[in-house]
Amino acid sequence: MERLQNFIDGAYCDPVKGQYLDNYEPASGTVYSQIPNSTEEDVELAVKAAEKAFPIWSEMSKSERSAILVKLSEGIQARMDEFVKAESRDNGKPLSLAAHVDIPRAVSNFHFFATAIIHYASESHQMEGVGVNYTLRKPIGIVGCISPWNLPLYLFSWKIAPALAAGNCVIAKPSEITPYTAYLLGKVAKEAGMPDGVLNILHGEGRYAGDAIVKHTKIKAISFTGGTATGEYIARTAAPMFKKLSLELGGKNPNIIFADCDFKEMLSTTLRSSFANQGQICLCGSRIFVERPIYDKFKEEFVKRVDSTVVAHPDNPDAKLGAVVSKPHMEKVLSYVELAKEEGGTVLTGGERVTVEGYENGYYLRPTVIEGLSFDCRTNQEEIFGPVVTITPFDTEEEVLMMANSTKYGLSATLWTSDLKRAHRMANELHSGIVWINSWLVRDLRTPFGGMKASGVGREGGWEALRFFTEAKNVFVKY
Ligand code: NDP
Repeated sequence: MERLQNFIDGAYCDPVKGQYLDNYEPASGTVYSQIPNSTEEDVELAVKAAEKAFPIWSEMSKSERSAILVKLSEGIQARMDEFVKAESRDNGKPLSLAAHVDIPRAVSNFHFFATAIIHYASESHQMEGVGVNYTLRKPIGIVGCISPWNLPLYLFSWKIAPALAAGNCVIAKPSEITPYTAYLLGKVAKEAGMPDGVLNILHGEGRYAGDAIVKHTKIKAISFTGGTATGEYIARTAAPMFKKLSLELGGKNPNIIFADCDFKEMLSTTLRSSFANQGQICLCGSRIFVERPIYDKFKEEFVKRVDSTVVAHPDNPDAKLGAVVSKPHMEKVLSYVELAKEEGGTVLTGGERVTVEGYENGYYLRPTVIEGLSFDCRTNQEEIFGPVVTITPFDTEEEVLMMANSTKYGLSATLWTSDLKRAHRMANELHSGIVWINSWLVRDLRTPFGGMKASGVGREGGWEALRFFTEAKNVFVKY
C-alpha cells in the first residue's frame, strides 16, 4: 500500500517516530494509503529547515519570489488531471467539482498572490511641516498554516500562497483525512525552484502535529481554518505566546428568499448553496428562510429538484453529490437528522444513507430538507456541515433578520430579492462577514474573507492576507 511522506527541507522523508495512519477513500469506505502520523520531532525538523531558509527567501526580491510562485501555479495546472483525481478520491467529492472548482482555485490562489505581492505597496503619512511616516511591511518569519478537509488544496493554498509571497517560510499541515494533494504539492514546489526549507508540509493528526505547530515558540503566526472548537483551543494556546492569529471557523449561514426574487435563478442557485460538495462548505446556506407568499411553491419545487439530484460515485459524470468525507462525519450528520425529528421537524426528503452499487461501504447520504423547526432549536443553531437544510417561513424583514442573526456564527449570508433598497438595508444589518445578493459563492480573491462572532477572527484574501502575513514597522523622518 502506498505510504505518503512529509516534505521537509526540500525532500520527502518518513516521520521520525515511524508512525502511520490509515487514509480512507470515502467513496468505497476502504483504506487506500497510509500517511505519517507526525509528532513534535517532525515539526522541530521542519522549523530548523525553515530557520535556515528564511534569510534566503525573505531577502529575495519580490519579483524573484513571484516568479517561483507563478511556476508553482503552472506546475499544478500542468498536472491538473493527477491533482483532480487525487482530490476526488481523498475527499469523496465529484470528479467534476474537483476539476471545475478545487484545483483551478488552487492554481489561481498561487497565481493571484504571486502577482499581488508585486503591487503590494505600504502606506506613507505626511505630517505637514513636521515630517513623514512610512511603513515597512516585513515578513514575520516562520508561520504555521493548518487547513481542513472540505476543500483540501483550495484552502491549503489560500493560506500558503500569501504567506510565501510575503517572504515567510511555512510549516503547513493539511487535514489528516485529506492529505493527498498537499503531498503532491511538495514535488511541484521543488520543480518550481522553491529553495529547500521554505515550504514544509507535515501530515498527521491535529492533536499531535497540529498542536506542536501551534505551540512551537519559533512559529510566530498561525493561520487556521477549521471547526470553531478547534479554533477556540488554538486561540487559547497561542494567545499567551503573542502569536499573530487568523481563524476561519464554522458557519450556520442563512439563505433569505423574498417573494419578489427571480424564482428560477434562486431555485437553481439554492440547490447549489445547500448541497454543493455534499453540503460540506463553510459557506453553504443551511438555514433557508422563505417569505410566506411563496413558501408552498418553493417547498414543492425545491423538494422535487432535491429528490431528483443524483448521488453517485464521484467518477460518475452525472454525480451531483458524491460521498461525505468519513464514516464518523456521516454518522454525525445522520445524528442531526434524528435530533431534528426529536425537535419536531418533518423530513420532507432524504435523511438517510444511500447505497451505491459496487460501493456499498461508501459514505453516501441523500440530500435532506427539513421543515417545521423553530429558529432557535439546536438543529437550526449548530453547524451540521453536511447535505442537510431546514426551511422556515417568515412574514417581515425584522422577523427574518432576527432569526438570521440568532446563531453564534456570522460567516456568510445570501439574500434573494429584486428590491435594491431592501437588499442594501438587509446587507447592512446581517451579522456576517460576507453577504451575497442574488448569488452565492462568487469569490473575488481581492476581497476580505472571514467571519464575525464564532465564525472567526481576522480576514484573509487580497491585501488583508498580505497584511496578516507581514509585520508593520513605522518609520518617522523629520523634515
Ligand atoms: P477541524 O477543526 O477538526 O480541523 C481543522 C484542521 O485543524 C485539521 O488539519 C486538523 O487536523 C487540525 N487540528 C485539529 N485539532 C488541532 C489542534 N489541537 N491543534 C492544531 N490543529 C488541530 O475542522 P475540520 O477539518 O473538521 O473542518 C471542518 C470545519 O472547518 C467546519 O467547522 C467548517 O465550517 C470549517 N471551515 C471553515 C471555513 C472558513 O473559511 N471559515 C472554510 C472551510 C471549513 P486533523 O484533521 O488531522 O485532526
